[in-house]
Amino acid sequence: MNSAQLIDGKAAAARVLQQVKVDVASMVADGIQPCLAVVLVGEDPASQVYVRNKILRAEECGIRSLEYKLADDIGEDELLELIRRLNADREVHGILLQLPLPAHIEETLALQAIDPGKDVDGFHSENVGGLSQGRTVLTPCTPSGCMQLLHDTVGDLSGKHAVVIGRSNIVGKPMAALLLQAHCSVTVLHSRSQNAAALSRQADIVIAAVGRPRMIDASWLKPGAVVIDVGINRITEGERSRLVGDVDFDSALPVVSAITPVPGGVGPMTIAFLMKNTLIAAQQQAKTHAKSEAPCPSIS
Ligand code: NDP
Repeated sequence: MNSAQLIDGKAAAARVLQQVKVDVASMVADGIQPCLAVVLVGEDPASQVYVRNKILRAEECGIRSLEYKLADDIGEDELLELIRRLNADREVHGILLQLPLPAHIEETLALQAIDPGKDVDGFHSENVGGLSQGRTVLTPCTPSGCMQLLHDTVGDLSGKHAVVIGRSNIVGKPMAALLLQAHCSVTVLHSRSQNAAALSRQADIVIAAVGRPRMIDASWLKPGAVVIDVGINRITEGERSRLVGDVDFDSALPVVSAITPVPGGVGPMTIAFLMKNTLIAAQQQAKTHAKSEAPCPSIS
């Protein structure tokens, strides 16, 4: 009989959000209301749903949210001007620029315009560089959520062999950096990797972030491995459309010791860590402002 543990991302996210709510309430009691500005350019239906969910979650945590819906054909300068205004606004602690942007706006330019201290997605090069140097910075939400699930499931990760499948800037690379920080031995696989399944089969921990439905089956997994499935893929089977991960769940389940389901695994953690990052950004800015406003010691 299979005794694999189902890693419950919904329950883990609820715990993270509950703590955020408590910490936000304590900031509000001190006169600071954490605030997240969400900027959406265009009318991509999936992005609209993501933005709505982020705003709802912020409200549940007591985080104030500001929503900026910009037309699809907005000029790059206008977007950069809005970002500059939000950077300068001391009542805004986090800025989230919903991706993807329309093709005429250069994504890197827009992301780099965000104040790194307000970059709650952790995509600014200052935060990316800080992460690779092991400094405490705002780290991307999905990999942070995966790390929390791993710590909850495995405990100490030190010395474990982790294989990350996928090397995107949003998931794969920051995931590898966080695992390295947690003292794992890390292998990163990508579309040019040779013998990928054999390499993956050596891992204690497998993180799948490929974007290919059910690509990773039992032949990629060592017995007893812990599997975190980041993939979210919509597939159609007959009349029905549903979400599946990058891991073939039914094939993997008899082999692994623990696995995240899709949906209900990593997805809820991503949004929970966006709220946590907004709180962290607000706490850091409050500290910086308190320092800069402290009276100079008097000279007698
Ligand atoms: P990208 O498309 O940006 O990256 C996919 C990565 O997979 C690339 O590095 C690519 O390699 C690699 N890859 C593609 N084919 C293979 C293969 N056959 N073998 C090994 N590696 C391969 O995707 P993202 O990282 O943005 O997202 C990955 C998945 O995670 C998607 O399903 C996405 O929807 C989901 N996602 C889920 C989130 C959540 O909250 N749960 C958040 C973000 C993403 P190469 O670099 O060589 O092209």
